[in-house]
This record gives sequence, C-alpha cells and structure tokens, in this order.
Amino acid sequence: MNPLSQLPSVDRLLCAPELAALVDAHGHAVVTAAIRDLLAAVRTAVREGAALPADAALVARVGAAVTAQMQPRLRPVFNLTGTVLHTNLGRAPLPEEAVQALIAAARSPCALEYDLETGGRGDRDHVVDDLLCELTGAEAATVVNNNAAAVFLLLNTLAQKKQVIVSRGELIEIGGAFRVPDIMSRAGAKLVEVGTTNRTHLKDFAEAITPRSALLMKVHASNYAIHGFTHAVAESELAELAHRHQLPFVIDLGSGTLTDLAAYGLPHEPTAAEAIAAGADLVTFSGDKLLGGPQAGLLVGRRDLIAKIKKNPLKRALRVGKLTLAALEAVLALYRDPDRLHLRVTAVRQLTRPQADIAAQAARLLPVLQAALAALPVTVDVVALMSQIGSGSLPVERLPSSGFAIRPQGRKGGVLKRIEQGLRALAKPVIGRIGDGALLLDLRCLAAGEENEFGAALAGLPAALRRTAV
Ligand SMILES: *Cc1c(COP(=O)(O)O)cnc(C)c1O
Repeated sequence: MNPLSQLPSVDRLLCAPELAALVDAHGHAVVTAAIRDLLAAVRTAVREGAALPADAALVARVGAAVTAQMQPRLRPVFNLTGTVLHTNLGRAPLPEEAVQALIAAARSPCALEYDLETGGRGDRDHVVDDLLCELTGAEAATVVNNNAAAVFLLLNTLAQKKQVIVSRGELIEIGGAFRVPDIMSRAGAKLVEVGTTNRTHLKDFAEAITPRSALLMKVHASNYAIHGFTHAVAESELAELAHRHQLPFVIDLGSGTLTDLAAYGLPHEPTAAEAIAAGADLVTFSGDKLLGGPQAGLLVGRRDLIAKIKKNPLKRALRVGKLTLAALEAVLALYRDPDRLHLRVTAVRQLTRPQADIAAQAARLLPVLQAALAALPVTVDVVALMSQIGSGSLPVERLPSSGFAIRPQGRKGGVLKRIEQGLRALAKPVIGRIGDGALLLDLRCLAAGEENEFGAALAGLPAALRRTAV
C-alpha cells in the first residue's frame, strides 16, 4: 500500500488540540500554511524512502514551525559583548523616561506639527530645539534621521558644486559604509584634502581656500587614533581662519556628548557646547551614541545656516518621526539635571558602572551559569575584562569590567561555538564574544533588574543546546 495514503489531511492536523492555542494566537491562515508546508516536505521525504511520521510527531513539528516563524525578527537580546554602544545591537538602550514618552506618542495623536497656543501649524523641530540650544549654547537646531543624514544634508545645502576643505587625517570610514569622501560626492560637494595623514597645519587650510570654497570642515576621528608625530589644527584657529574668509566652519562630532563625561570618571570626549564655544558655525552628532538617546542626527549652530538647511527639500526626506522626537525630548530633558545623569541615562549608567559592582554580580550569577553548562567539558570562571565604549567613541579607551570566561577542557575548541550557538537560541538570546581562546560574557550591560531574567534564560540553556546539537 502507498504509505502516503495514510498521511493525515490538513483539516485533521488543524483540529489537533495541541495546536488550538497556536490557532488562537496567530490565526488559521498561518497554522494552515505551516501544515501544508510540512505535509509537502513529508511527501517528498516518504517518496525518497523515509518512514511516515506519526500524527503526534507531525503536530509537534507544525507547532515548532509556527512558533519559530511568529517570533519577532527584532528580538531583544542580552548584550554581553562588552561593547556598550554596539551598532549591530541597536546602540544606546533608552532610559525608562524615554520609553514611556515613546509609548505615549505611539498610542495617541500628539502635537507634532501643531502649535497648541495658536492652533496653527507648527514645526516638528520645536519638540527639541529649545532643549538642544540650551544644552549646546547654539542659536538654532534641527533633527534628522541619523548623523550620516545630518552631514549629508549640511554638505548638500551649503556646499553643492563647491569645495569643502578637510584634513587628510580625518577622511574616515565609519562601520556600515559611511565614508566622508563618498558622502561628500553624493552630496554634490567637491572634497579638497589638505595636510598629510598624521600632520595638518593652519597654513594647509589657508592655502587651499579659493573663491570656490564653501566651508572648512573638521571630522572627529571617532573609531581610530593617530599617535606619535602628529599635529591637528585647533578648532578655534580653524574657525578664525574660516571667518576671515566669510566661510562657515563645521564640525562632524560623531559621537558628540552634551556633557563632559570626565565629570563621571570617563575619558574626555569633545562636547557640542565646546565645539560651538570654539567658534563652529554648525555641529552635527548622533542621538544614539554617547548621548544615549534614539537614532537621530542632531544639527546645532548658527540660525541662518540652520534655516537654510531646513529649507532644503531633502530635509523632508530625512526628517524623524514622532517616536524619535518623543524619546529624544525625554532624554534631552534628563541632561538638564547633570547630578543624576549617570543614574538615569542608561548608556551613561552602563559606561560608568564600577568594576566592583559588575564583579559582585558575576559572583552571584556564577553558580547559575556553571549549572547550565554542567554537562559540557568546560570550565567557567569569573574574570576581569575590559569593555569598549563602541560606536567609534573614544576608540582607544577601555573600561575595567568583569564577567565570565568559559574555556574548553582539553583542546576541544568546538564546544565554545556550540555554547555560543545555544546562547543565541535562547528565547532572549545572550550575545558574548570569543577572545583568548575563551567565550567571554561581559556583564557591564546587565542591569541589576535584569539578573533574574538572565538567570531564568540560562536555565533554558541545556534545552537550547540539545535543540541546536542537530
Ligand atoms: C558615527 C559617526 C557618523 C555616523 O553617524 P550615524 O548616527 O551612525 O549616522 C558620522 N560621523 C562620525 C564622525 C561618526 O563617528
């Protein structure tokens, strides 16, 4: 007899009581499609000689397929990589104040471009421009999708078909294909490189100024540092030179912070206020790097230049939505209270977390991780680690941290790959890093309030390891 005649019908499987909850949660269409896919695969397998699976096995496979399919792709993860502002993991986590503001703006209509005093049409930048001016000392401000967009819009508005003078040592590439020369040419501006990779002097800039010059630009080196025989021109000197020739001086700060992080024990990173005070006419920086807010590109500076930028039709194409503005407003408001900044802005809190605090957490969680890995030929220890800030901020600085080193017993390095895979297969995946022949889990970004959730996630590790073993 043809074994395929024994294959259950779609309807019979759909009525299985084990699938009722899934049908309820995701609807008939999704579960039916998964059943059809499975039956097609089973028919092919049986024709090729495989045994016909029992109904119960088919139902289980449908359940697993639907559950896997319906998981959100944008899954929350535990960032134990040791890189705080991890671009691939979404950079800065938002403070609770910003999350609440974002939810409120998402749920209901809000006065996005509506002037509540006059009842007339408003400008969406008004949500944050006063705060940005207060925090940077600038005259005016505007917001776009990210810092790459801010730089692009600035160049396209002020330097189309004209020349932009930049030091050779600042022609950087940021991960994810942001290259200063490429952005420049796409914006329609002509790059004029001056100086050498390691040394650029004021006279290099002065000699490059022509009637076709549009602006002098400084790009914060972000993700690398040049040491040794180096020279860069001070911002105030560049500003003075530019102004003598009636040219604007602009700075792409990259990370850009609104407060001197040295006050919180971190290395100094140039602030937007310092750039404005040094004479910059426009400054751009990211919302989701050291600032600790949502993805956004912030432009602050001279009123007339910001007005020009806002009139560029591309501003409309690069503008931010209400969710971003809601979150950004809430984060900027936290900067008005520097005393509590390191407690309230999540990214700053993570960056300033004392090593002793992280080490104590590691000691508390060690038995949980050891139990989860008890069946594998590995050792698990609490070790001192070095975290990175990430996103090109303060590239050479490291923050003393603590966490776990999982090392293979003997020379079975493959076991680490397996554990990494198991950790990624958890309902809330755990992302670590491989280094020194060990799998390292840096606990800097694990909040005290997440400890129980993390412990519960680890309890699922043995099952995840079995699932991923095939
Ligand atoms: C990160 C960075 C950018 C890009 O910023 P995004 O917000 O990621 O678009 C541009 N310039 C510099 C100097 C940077 O560090």
